[in-house]
This record gives sequence, structure tokens and C-alpha cells, in this order.
Amino acid sequence: MADKNWQAGGKDSIPARAVLRMVAPLIVILAPCADAWAASDDFAPPNYVGSADPNTIWIILLGGLVIASFLMAIGLWVLSALRKVKRSQLRRNAFISSALNNLNQGVVMTDAERRIIFCNDRYLEIYGLARSDVPRNMTGPELLELRRRRGVLDISVEEFYARSSRPDGLITELPDGRSVLVKHFMLPNGGSVATHDDCTEQRKLSRKLASTTQFLESVLDNVPVCVAAKNIEDGRYIFANRAFERFSRFSRDHIVGKRADEIFSPGTAASIDKADRSALDAPEGYFRSELFVERGSEKRILASNRVVARNENNEPEFLIALFDDVTERRSLSRELENNKKFLELVVDNIPVSLIVERVSDGRYLLANRSAETILNRRREDATGLTAADIFNPREAKLIIARDEAAIKKRGLLTEEHPISTKDGLRLFLTRRMTVLDDTGEPQYLIKTHEDVTDRRQTESRMAHMAYHDGLTDLPNRAAFLQALAQMIEACAGTDEEFAVLCVDLDGLKEINDVFGHAMGDKLLIEVASRLQDSARGGVVARLSGDEFGLIIDGKQPASGKLLAEQLGEALANEFLIDGKSVRTGCTTGISVFPHNGSDAASLLANAGAALFRAKAKSRGSISIFEPEMDQQIRDRRVLHQDLSVAIRNGELSLHYQPQATSGATVATSEVIGFEALARWLHPVRGFVPPGEFIPLAEESGLIVEMGEWILREACREAASWPVPLQVAINLSPAQFMHGDVVSLVHSILLETGLAPDRLELEITEGVLIEDFDRGVALLRRLKALGVRISMDDFGSGYSSLSYLQAFPFDKIKIDRAFVMNLGRNPQSAAIVRAVIDLGHGLEMSIVAEGVETQEQLGFLSEEGCDAVQGYFIGKPFPIGQYAALVGRSGGDVMETVRKTG
Ligand code: C2E
Ligand code: CA
Ligand code: CA
Repeated sequence: MADKNWQAGGKDSIPARAVLRMVAPLIVILAPCADAWAASDDFAPPNYVGSADPNTIWIILLGGLVIASFLMAIGLWVLSALRKVKRSQLRRNAFISSALNNLNQGVVMTDAERRIIFCNDRYLEIYGLARSDVPRNMTGPELLELRRRRGVLDISVEEFYARSSRPDGLITELPDGRSVLVKHFMLPNGGSVATHDDCTEQRKLSRKLASTTQFLESVLDNVPVCVAAKNIEDGRYIFANRAFERFSRFSRDHIVGKRADEIFSPGTAASIDKADRSALDAPEGYFRSELFVERGSEKRILASNRVVARNENNEPEFLIALFDDVTERRSLSRELENNKKFLELVVDNIPVSLIVERVSDGRYLLANRSAETILNRRREDATGLTAADIFNPREAKLIIARDEAAIKKRGLLTEEHPISTKDGLRLFLTRRMTVLDDTGEPQYLIKTHEDVTDRRQTESRMAHMAYHDGLTDLPNRAAFLQALAQMIEACAGTDEEFAVLCVDLDGLKEINDVFGHAMGDKLLIEVASRLQDSARGGVVARLSGDEFGLIIDGKQPASGKLLAEQLGEALANEFLIDGKSVRTGCTTGISVFPHNGSDAASLLANAGAALFRAKAKSRGSISIFEPEMDQQIRDRRVLHQDLSVAIRNGELSLHYQPQATSGATVATSEVIGFEALARWLHPVRGFVPPGEFIPLAEESGLIVEMGEWILREACREAASWPVPLQVAINLSPAQFMHGDVVSLVHSILLETGLAPDRLELEITEGVLIEDFDRGVALLRRLKALGVRISMDDFGSGYSSLSYLQAFPFDKIKIDRAFVMNLGRNPQSAAIVRAVIDLGHGLEMSIVAEGVETQEQLGFLSEEGCDAVQGYFIGKPFPIGQYAALVGRSGGDVMETVRKTG
């Protein structure tokens, strides 16, 4: 941009052409007199000489005289005329000469022979020459040689002519530091003229200008703001700095000389033009704005400042645009603004009331929405007020005192107190936090009020829940242990004794199954109330689902035993719930302080051990703890430990008990298969009965692993029999609950190669009691494998009949208890008969278990029972005992049966 201004060069000098125009006519005038040109100090006029023809004849003398007189007169006239001309010419020449001599430029003229015909004073002055240094007839090259000698020409003569004839002329640097611009022109008549112009000052100025320009350009190039300048006239860029190049991603060569619309996208060019126009229209001469431009696919925001530069005539000449990319800054400030709004929103919506108070005058500066409850007004209306303006004098006094305490403390002050609000008296947790200024003086007080009414209520409810049973609202096990500890503390060291009762409700599980859990729950509530009534103010707690704990003082164990009996009586009466009559009872274990334990946990554990014994004895019984019970429980724990390694140690095995068709006698009863029964040979205790270890395995989950072993072992065994008899395997409910029993059976069948129709799975109703839908679904899938499912121990449970409807069992196994009583009581015979009929009606085959006598066998055979199993047919033995039956060796099959039976 600046170049145009600053590169003015010879703008201020008289142009050489103008000089030429002035000088040229002189040359025409002066040329004919070139010979007469005197190189004297004064300008010498040309020497003109006139001529006439003389006659010597006398005759003519007179005439001649006359003529001569006449001629003289003419001559005189001519002479006078000539003088007149000469004078005017002289005047003219003197004028021209003085004009040329007074020129600011040196001028030298030569004729066609290169002789110097004119050289002005300025020329002589420039080069320090005297007029006498330029004699008449001296040629141009001679004068130049002279100058070379004088040291005022630093190039050769030829070079001088060559360079000074160029349009921009030749600059000669003189020893004294001056610079002379020489321009040499040829004239049409073969002569020449040279002008010599002392341009020292201009040269200095332009050098200075050039360095200033360079300086400014380098400054502009290094400022981080984009700078561009354009000509207003044509809108073309004349300058762009490096920042502009960087921003636009165009080089300045690409930018300079072009208009915005030739460089940028139409949208960008339009917004540039608009800003330019606004700057030109602005009376102040500048215009600030924010421009939206495109750079490739990005949109950028520029903060632009446009300034109009005017020339000396005050006309707009250049437009200078300074701009900065503020896109990031804008988005940052937008983000800050958003953050601020966000924080305001948060502050306003936190469920805690927040008030900021100025310490100096106690005025409220800020209050959020939640604070409106406390301030009893809109938050906008509270700002600027003090506590005294808002609250009644008593409250205000209290608040101000608390505020002052917090300010004095210069830290956090927390307290809980009631505040009356429009919703009534509420409990608030107030935190006061002092904000200090730079000098450490309190500046603001931030107060938060949190309504903790509900929370405190919940906490106390939770505390109650932690120690109470949600259903019966009785104290729970934890509370019972605490009460026990207190009781021990009270009785310790005295001869006072008390009893701990563990009461187990009978048949709750069945009631839940038959009538639903809602009924079970109502029963529990009723039971709790009867227990409380019977306890007459003593501690009653619910220890677990169907277990209650009581503490009774007095002479022991008499007092405890009496209470247990009373409880039994209280619960023996039927309950009427939702119009249904429900019966239950209880079994009780008792331990006594101090004899059966000195701490709460062991007293309760021992009452539990006594209960275990009582349950084992009979439902409804009462058992008082004896030290050996403790031993039994410990034994159980040890046994469980041992069982967990039994499979690995190879201590488990299977016995097989034959099942036969029910013939009139053993001889006519044909063995159709075996039931596999698990046996544990304990390394120390010998055989442990399955009635003992199976429940242990079920409780601990060991049954899953054990059941898998039994299933695999029995199938493998049966698959190896030459005679394809059936094998019946017991599945525990726990296997249904925890393992993937279907895939297990499937994979074991594949693995052992046993035909599915040879496998029979015996399940008890427990499978269906735990989770009926799941139980039925699993049974269906098992049956789909092609195996048979039989209902074991039929009649011993509570609701076997309903299960028969739910699933198409293949077989029903009548429980041993009924078979045992055949012949002893008539009901059993009726029941067995009914079950046989029922089963056949449902197309299920019937197996009678526990057949021990010929009578029983005869009866069953007569009644059309399909199969029998019992000691009378054969006891459970290792399969080796029944080798002949499975076709492993010869021999009399029935002989073996009889021997073993
Ligand atoms: P259960 O399934 O009802 O098995 C029949 C039980 O009756 C067997 O007792 C068997 O020895 C016994 N028994 C058979 N015939 C007579 C008889 O004529 N008179 C008398 N008094 N008893 C007879 P065991 O082997 O002691 O098994 C007891 C229970 O242990 C089984 O009753 C079954 O519930 C469980 N059990 C045994 N083996 C397994 C097993 O492999 N898996 C599972 N889950 N449970 C098993
Ligand atoms: Ca069985
Ligand atoms: Ca059975």
C-alpha cells in the first residue's frame, strides 16, 4: 500500500521533458550562429558581415555618387534596421541565456559535430568547473574527459552516454556525497542536450523513505493482527501482511492486485464489501464490526476495524483493514456465558436454600428459589433487605446473633434448628460459611438451609427398621441379641436366672404353599400377637421366617418350660384368617442363663440346638438344652466338612434296590429295574445314612456336585448291564434350584450311551414347592429327553394331589408309611387302593415302596399295583450282589433275590 505513496522517486523534480521543451527552440535559433559562439564570460553575439559591388567609371561616378548617396541612404536605413534586429536579437539571446543560466539544472548542448554550443552556469557549478574550462570548440567527450580528470565523473565516456540516454537516466555520485541525475537526449538536427539535476536531497529522502517503508512493512508483517490495504478506486488489494496470509491461507502475491470477489467465496466477499462501504460512509473515517467469513468449510468470526486513508486533498484513497480471528474467543466467551447461566440455574434449583449476605451491612445479595420458603417471599424481593426487614424481631435477633458467631469464627458453622415456614415448623440444617476478601476480612456470608425434617424422620424409621421386623413389628434378631446382652448384664453376678426360648412355627411353609404368602404373612402377625399376649410383657422377637425368640425370667427351667407350654396352647387354637381356618403349632427349644451360656450369642445358639433336637423328636415338642446337643451340632459341622471332600476321596458309592412287577409272590414278581441309592462310607464313622448326609448336602449346595456324580455313576453302571433294566435315580429339589439339571441329564445320557427310556428320575414334591412354574417347566423339558419322571414319597407331603394334575408323571411311588400300615389299620388299605385307582385314572403306573412282607405284596398284587419295591423283594446293595439280574454272570436270579431279601 505504502509503496505508491513512498516510491514517488523524482516526482518533485522538474521533469526532463519539460526542460527539453523549453530548450529546443533556442537551439533552432542558436544553431546558425554556432560558428560565432564565443565562449567568453559574456554571451557574445554572432559576427554578421555585409558586402557591395564598387564601379570605377567617372560617368558613373556622379551617377554613382547619386546612387552611392542613395545607396548609402538605403545602407544607412538597412544598417539602422539591421541594428534594430540585432538589438532585439541580442535582447532575446540575453534573455534565453540568462534563463538557461538560471535554471536549477545543469544544461549542456552540442551540435551535430558534438561541439559544445551551450553550457550553463549551473552545470559548471555542479561539477566545480570554471567557464574557462570549457573553451570554444570543445567537444562533449572532451568535457567529460575533463570531468573524469577532475574526479567528478566515475565512469567512462561511453558508459556515460549509454546510461544517461536511458529513460531513467544516470545517477553520478560526486566525491562530496552529492548525487546528480543526468539525462541525455539526441536532437533531430544531430545535436544533443544533457540535463544535470542535483538530486542529493531526493535520493536521501527516498532512501530514508525506503528504509522507513521496510521498517513499517516488517512491523506490519510481524503484528499478530491481519492487515490489508486496498485502493478505494478499484477495490484491489495493494498490501497484505503475513498474519493475513496465514489467516486467508493465500500468499500475498495471490492477494495483491485482486479484488475480494476474485479471492474469496461470494458470501465472504459480500460481507467484506459491506464492511468496506460502511467504513467509507462513516463520518469518523473508520468502522468496527464483526465479520462472518468462510475459510474452506469452516465459518470464522473476525473482529474487523477498517480505516479510510485520505490523500493531501482529503480525498479517500486507501482503505486499511485490520482484523483478528476471534472465533475461538467468541466460542470461549459463549461457553463462559453458558457456564454462568448453568451455574445460576444450578444454584437456583438445588434443593437446599442458599442465601448470600454482605458482611458489611448484613444485606442479602442473593437468594435461590429454595430460600423463598425461609424468606417467605420471592427471592427477587429479598435482595437488598436485611434479616431485620424480613423476620420478626425475636427471630431476627437470633439470626443476627448466629450470623455474627459465624463471621467471628471465619469458618464453617453448622447447626440444626426448627424454623417456622408457611408449611409449618420444619427442622433445618443450617451451614454458615464466611468468605474472606484478599486482606483476610470477612466479606460475604453464605448460608444454606437444608430441610432435614423428612430425612430425620426417615432416619428414625430406619433405626426402628434396623431393630424391628417389618411384618410383625416385633424386635428382630439384632434387637433380641441386644436385649439378651442387657439381661445378662443385669443378672450377671446375682443368682437370678432366665431362659431363652427358640420357638419354631410348624407348617408355615405348607400354609404358604397352599394358601399363598399373603395368608402366611397374616398368620405370622396373628402368631406374633398371641406370643406377645402369652409372654405378658417379656421380650418377644422374630428371629427369622418362622422362628421367634423369647426371654423369661424366674426359676429355671420351670419358668421357661411353663411359658413354652402356654405358647403351645395359645397357638394350638385355630386361626381365622380371611374367613379361613388355619391350624399351626410350635416346637420350642430352651436354653438357660447362666448354665447354658454366658453371652447372648451362645445362649441363643444353644436354644437353637435344643430346638433342632425338639424338631427331630416330634413337632410340637419342647426340648431343654443339654450339653451333648451342642456336641451334636458341632458334629454336624464336622460331618459337613468331611462330606465336602467325600466325592474327591472316593467315599461315595451307590447301592441298588430292585423294583419288580407285583406278582402274588416274590417268585412271580419280575425285576424290572433298580433304584440307585447313595452311600457314604466315612473313613472314621463308617456308613453314614443318606437320611443324614443328603439333607446336609442340600443345605450347603454340595448336592449339585454330588447329584451330578450320582447321576453319571448310575447311568454309566446301567449302560453297562447286558440286560437293559431300568435305573431310577433320585433328584433333589436343590438340583432343580441351582444346577442346569436338564442339560446335565442330556449330556450324561449322551456321554454314557444309556437309552433315555431306561432312565427314571424320582422327584419329590419339593421340586414343585420351591418354584412351581420353573419346576413344571424343567420337568417337561426332562420328559422331552425321553426319560420317565416319577413322583416319590407320594402321600407323605401336603399337596401331592394338586401336583398330579399339574404334571403328567409316569409313575407314582406310594410312600412307605402307607404300605407299612397295611393290615394294621383299615384306612391305609383304603388310601393305597384310592391312590392306585387315582394313578390309573391319570394313566400313571403305581409303585409301592417299603414292601416288607408277603401280605403286603399279596395285597398290592391283588389291588392291581403295577410294581413293588422293598426289603421283601431286595435290599439296596452294591450292584455286584445283583450281577445275575443284570446279566453279568449265570446263576439263579431269584435265588439271588431271595438271599438278599
Ligand atoms: P427314598 O428315595 O424314599 O429311598 C427309599 C428309602 O427307603 C431308602 O433309604 C431305602 O433303603 C429304604 N427302603 C427301601 N425298602 C425298604 C423297606 O422295605 N423297609 C424300610 N424300612 N426301608 C426301605 P435310604 O437308602 O436310607 O435313603 C433314604 C433317602 O435318602 C431316600 O429315600 C432318598 O430320599 C434319599 N436318597 C438316597 N439316595 C439318594 C440319592 O442318590 N439322591 C438323592 N437326592 N437322595 C437320595
Ligand atoms: Ca426314591
Ligand atoms: Ca421313597
